[in-house]
Amino acid sequence: MEFVLPPLPYSSNALEPYIDTLTMEIHHQRHHGTYLANLKAALEKYPDWASKSFEFILANIQQLPEDIRTAVRNNGGGHWNHSFFWPLLTPKSSQKPIGKLAEAIDKTFGSFESFQEQFTQAALGRFGSGWAWLVWREGQLVIGSTPNQDNPLMDISEFKGKPVLGLDVWEHAYYLKYQNRRADYIKAWWNVVNWEQAEANFLAAQGA
Ligand code: MN
Repeated sequence: MEFVLPPLPYSSNALEPYIDTLTMEIHHQRHHGTYLANLKAALEKYPDWASKSFEFILANIQQLPEDIRTAVRNNGGGHWNHSFFWPLLTPKSSQKPIGKLAEAIDKTFGSFESFQEQFTQAALGRFGSGWAWLVWREGQLVIGSTPNQDNPLMDISEFKGKPVLGLDVWEHAYYLKYQNRRADYIKAWWNVVNWEQAEANFLAAQGA
């Protein structure tokens, strides 16, 4: 994941009717694009930091020079989170987990339905802007959430782990179509989850 805006791996209207075309265009080009531009502007001041890997930077937010620390936290998180999010969406969803992740979800949460319920509650329960996550941590799948653009890879995050699945619950992700109805957006999102990508993330998180 370099400091470039990754193209969407599908057309901007591909997720209709669950996620509308205009939301996808604005979200990808303007919101994500702005996070990326702001991140690059902050890192430009410190070439030594700019040359580090992105994940190293996120894991060392507290070591960053103070004048760019908040900008990198917010915009670096924004760039990483959205780059992680786009491939986790697909118009050709299997509708439920596959492979090793499917087995681990059943083992950890009892059933996919029980997992869906708990993940949905995490996404609904995040007050204001933020993300819901499924992470791999110390040999276990764990559900949680973060505020703003914090993510589980950050040293300063209140919720840590290796991300397997992430859901953007900022209003910019759903307001045009769903207005204040975050629950409807989450319900629709389950229809476009890319479980093959989630399985790949899960295997990568385990170092497989
Ligand atoms: Mn977003």
